[in-house]
Amino acid sequence: MDAGLKRELEAKVYAGERLTREDGIALYASDDLAWLGRLAHHRRTVLNGDRVMFNVNRHLNLTNVCSASCAYCSFQRKPGEPDAYTMRIEEAVSKAKEMEDEQLTELHIVNGLHPSLPWRYYPKVLRELKAALPNVKLKCFTATEVQWFEKISGLPASEILDELMDAGLESLTGGGAEIFDWEVRQHIVDHDCHWEDWSRIHRLAHQKGMKTPATMLYGHIEEPRHRVDHVLRLRELQDETGGFAVFIPLRYQHDFHDSKDGKVRNRIQERTTMAAPAESLKTFAVSRLLFDNVPHVKNFWVMHGLSVAQLSLNFGVDDLDGSVVEYKITHDADSYGTPATMHRDDLLHLIWDAGFQPVERDTRYQVVREYEQAPSLAERRSEPQKIWA
Ligand code: SF4
Repeated sequence: MDAGLKRELEAKVYAGERLTREDGIALYASDDLAWLGRLAHHRRTVLNGDRVMFNVNRHLNLTNVCSASCAYCSFQRKPGEPDAYTMRIEEAVSKAKEMEDEQLTELHIVNGLHPSLPWRYYPKVLRELKAALPNVKLKCFTATEVQWFEKISGLPASEILDELMDAGLESLTGGGAEIFDWEVRQHIVDHDCHWEDWSRIHRLAHQKGMKTPATMLYGHIEEPRHRVDHVLRLRELQDETGGFAVFIPLRYQHDFHDSKDGKVRNRIQERTTMAAPAESLKTFAVSRLLFDNVPHVKNFWVMHGLSVAQLSLNFGVDDLDGSVVEYKITHDADSYGTPATMHRDDLLHLIWDAGFQPVERDTRYQVVREYEQAPSLAERRSEPQKIWA
């Protein structure tokens, strides 16, 4: 990037001016990672100071049986496959209750598009979970699932959301977004929920008072311009509703043969490589700079590894999800030694060690607890430390 353009972009960021599509593409074209980090860090500091939010949550996937076969997806199974499963309601409740002692604040539930489970199953699970764990917030279902519920119930999304909210739903999840541009989307997504429906359902959720997350799956067959366009669509919707609480870039993962039949389900694996850490850090930084009206940018550490999670806090990220337990969709996909579970203390140390101030939050980004200043590094190093890759 020539020095003049660099100065121009820098001036815009420091003046708090909105960046354009061309600016976003130029930022992705820059190889000056430290410079990108500095700009994004400035923006995150203006918005969130030196705080890093995190939550104590558990991910539950009620079923991996799915009618669709998205090209990048290693999670879905067809009915009758050896490791296809669907949880009974009691099973879901007992799994959720396993974490009660950790002062769990959120359950995060996403699922396959099951071909024969009736619509009634879903509000029923929510009611039972809420009855068993009344203080736990339920963040459940992608917009894709809500559109699926429309199909299987014959009800409009508005009534579906009303019933789910009545059963205890606090927020939708941000999934199903992938990359909105049809040029890419038509090759990777195998269901009918695209930008028109995805945005319709989130808009509706915002009108009903929900704060929702938005995601972007990056690092597969898309180009930087598709990432820029993806964020700009969300930014425009955010101008209209103000309902997005957080943006979550998700790193596309390969399938690492963990299924019982050894089948690789990811059909674009042969022609893709997973994004390296520098690419991830750049994506976080540019996302923070472009998506100027979303309050938070999250690193879902399971998809990036803990080292990148710590570094990303200097590249625009101010939110870490979470104390994830048993995340089935991806786990340790690139053998970084990423653990399946992080407890509250693990997260606190991860954040302190990176030089930030941890704040525990709930699903609505309300503060649950602030923590004292970090004990000095020397003090913490005086005891044997856990080793993270
Ligand atoms: S991404 Fe979701 S909808 Fe697509 S195949 Fe996987 S589970 Fe099904």
